[in-house]
Amino acid sequence: MKVYNTLTRSKEEFVPREAGKVSFYMCGPTVYNHIHIGNARTFLSFDVIRRYLEYSGFDVTFVQNLTDVDDKIINRAKEEGSTPAEVAEYYSQAFIDVMDEIGVKEPTIRPRATQEISSMIEIIQTLIDSGHAYAIDGDVYFAVRSFPEYGRLSGRDIDQLLSGARVEVDSRKRDALDFALWKAAKPGEPAWEAPWGSGRPGWHIECSAMSERYLGTPFDIHGGGDDLVFPHHENEVAQSEACTGKPFVKYWLHGGMLTIDQEKMSKSEGNFLLLKDVLEHVRPQALRLLMLQTHYRSQFDYSVERLQEATASLERIESALRNLSWAIESYAPVAVAPNELGDKSVSWTGDLLKHIEATREQFVHHMDDDFNAAGAVSAIFELVTAGNSSVKDGIYGESHRLAVIEAHDTIVELLAVLGVDLLAKADNNEEEIPEGVVALAGKLVGFSGDIPAAAVDLLLEARNNARANKDWALADAIRDGLSELGLMIEDTPSGTRIVRK
Ligand code: AMP
Ligand code: ZN
Repeated sequence: MKVYNTLTRSKEEFVPREAGKVSFYMCGPTVYNHIHIGNARTFLSFDVIRRYLEYSGFDVTFVQNLTDVDDKIINRAKEEGSTPAEVAEYYSQAFIDVMDEIGVKEPTIRPRATQEISSMIEIIQTLIDSGHAYAIDGDVYFAVRSFPEYGRLSGRDIDQLLSGARVEVDSRKRDALDFALWKAAKPGEPAWEAPWGSGRPGWHIECSAMSERYLGTPFDIHGGGDDLVFPHHENEVAQSEACTGKPFVKYWLHGGMLTIDQEKMSKSEGNFLLLKDVLEHVRPQALRLLMLQTHYRSQFDYSVERLQEATASLERIESALRNLSWAIESYAPVAVAPNELGDKSVSWTGDLLKHIEATREQFVHHMDDDFNAAGAVSAIFELVTAGNSSVKDGIYGESHRLAVIEAHDTIVELLAVLGVDLLAKADNNEEEIPEGVVALAGKLVGFSGDIPAAAVDLLLEARNNARANKDWALADAIRDGLSELGLMIEDTPSGTRIVRK
């Protein structure tokens, strides 16, 4: 398996520190608002990476924090007339709920910054003691000049950065790039006691403290959007390595930005769409399928048209799966001599088995290449097409039936590895049959049950009998009655079924 490492700017063979285990840290959201679909893209990308690592047999410990103390949260609370803790709690839960809705797996551990203050204080104290940080009037800053590697992750030169930095408003800092580890308490703001004075942690120190506490250093993978490389991740490296004297992270993975009209989606630009609003009219699987079709490191330009195309693709997959299920269910071994089946059974089966094998190979090949989900999805699409055409004339023989079952299950399984869960939809199929069929079947064929699917079965059977008995009036009444309910009878080589019009 190869992964692109921002630290070395190259694709490297992925070898976790401990065989079979992966320690994975992912920056979580600052919980002051609902997330937008740009944020969602990053969380979805890393969910796919995590799922694939698990599929490949790794035991993954996935830690994702919630930043629940921050200027933005404090400001929001002032605007709303509530407390920062209330704002943080509300948007933390909203985040957890919406992640669940789009099928992002729960992290193994989800630490909250406000519950981890003592580990942050410990790191800051160590940095002060070793001369990497200094306290002024209750604020504490990290001294970037004390860490010669500063700039390595983002590929920036510290001297250029310093000369390019704006004349610093805060003249108490030794260097313009020095960043806050601790902010002195202000009246009415959340604050914790520390040896250098009460206050609250800076943003960067949170991730250093929480990753160290739950994963140790170094750990295997650190993820986030590429807008976090500088300064957030650069600062995390500086704090952690200066504190422990050990490397911080083995592989740095960064996702590309979601844009609209080529502009980065962001709250501050005002060009954002909240995930929860988009999910009001789009299925989460369609949104995921859309995002899978662009490599996670590339920029992704969002548009409604692209989302509609993805919805259509999703429906194509589902309709193909229904065709396969239908063919599998309606297949009945026929009493014909093998030679009357011709060579059809053999060729369909052999072809389909080859397709399944090729799809599995291609899937792994693409995903092993820096999680190329777009390639993996197109391999699945090929199997969808092959599966569909293999049942267009029904199923020939038991070995063909088994191959079709395998094709069906392979499509479902591989999409699930990418987090596209189609079974959820299949479970709801019952609900898609309109209630009205129960009354229709009662009126026309004396149905006395209350399960719509059973009513449909009886109607179809009655119609077939009516046709066989040349009772055209009944056959037509059944067809017309279903039609009024938006259902159409389809006669296929494998039997009769109903579909939505
Ligand atoms: P924030 O709450 O701003 O720290 O963002 C949470 C996550 O969303 C981080 O991993 C960011 O890198 C990511 N993110 C923010 N804006 C975008 C965007 N437009 N496209 C993709 N990811 C983004
Ligand atoms: Zn972070």
